[in-house]
Amino acid sequence: MKVTLVPSTVAGSGPEHFQFASSTVINGTVAIDAGCLGYFCSPEQQARVRHVLLTHSHADHIASLPIFVENAYEGNSECVTIHGTEEVLECCQRDLFNERIWPDFLALSARNDKPFLRMSRVVPGQTLTLEGLRIRAVNLNHVVPTVGYLVADDHSAAAFVSDTGPTEEVWELANATPNLKGVFLEATFPNEMEWLAAVSRHLTPLQVAHEVKKLKRPVRIIITHIKPRYQKQVIAELQGLGIPSLEIAQFGVPYTL
Ligand SMILES: [Zn+2]
Ligand SMILES: [Zn+2]
Repeated sequence: MKVTLVPSTVAGSGPEHFQFASSTVINGTVAIDAGCLGYFCSPEQQARVRHVLLTHSHADHIASLPIFVENAYEGNSECVTIHGTEEVLECCQRDLFNERIWPDFLALSARNDKPFLRMSRVVPGQTLTLEGLRIRAVNLNHVVPTVGYLVADDHSAAAFVSDTGPTEEVWELANATPNLKGVFLEATFPNEMEWLAAVSRHLTPLQVAHEVKKLKRPVRIIITHIKPRYQKQVIAELQGLGIPSLEIAQFGVPYTL
């Protein structure tokens, strides 16, 4: 499985990359979130992505979704499908594709044999198969309804755990996933801002250490979603944890899991 974290800045790369928004592309064809997906590579490469799995409705995860849907439009009977929980799909319809922020692509698609997009409801606990990947959503602990995803092919599996505060179910599922090779886990605020992490339901490095202990498998822990403003401090605190399996995410370079 090839997993690429989409860069979200026009300057900086490698460990100095600032993550302003969230999007992940798996095997070039399935994406998780669309914070920056609409600015990724070329329109042709965006058009290879036929499925977008949304975690939740926050702007850093959906900001470029309207741009992406337009870029990926090929003018034939196939189109992009947006997958999300009922709450997230309702938000996309009401707050994005609403004839004000962007055209109502759903209404346009309903009366068109060349649709722009489809929406498909994700139900946590059920397994969905897309492009050879088995995908399962699991509820996380965030201020709006949010799911993480466990994604598996015949060789490996990865868990995408963001945005969330301390949580349990995803770790139980991860522990029951035989080929789990990596967990992409958030660490948003520095330790001294635990109060803000608590009200916004995110993790600090100390809380990451606590979460990682719930994982019984020796897998790579790849840290994402560091607030750019506090990046240096969060990275120093993460490195200070002394967890050998923990690494800071690299953007634009595919992970092979
Ligand atoms: Zn969020
Ligand atoms: Zn976020």
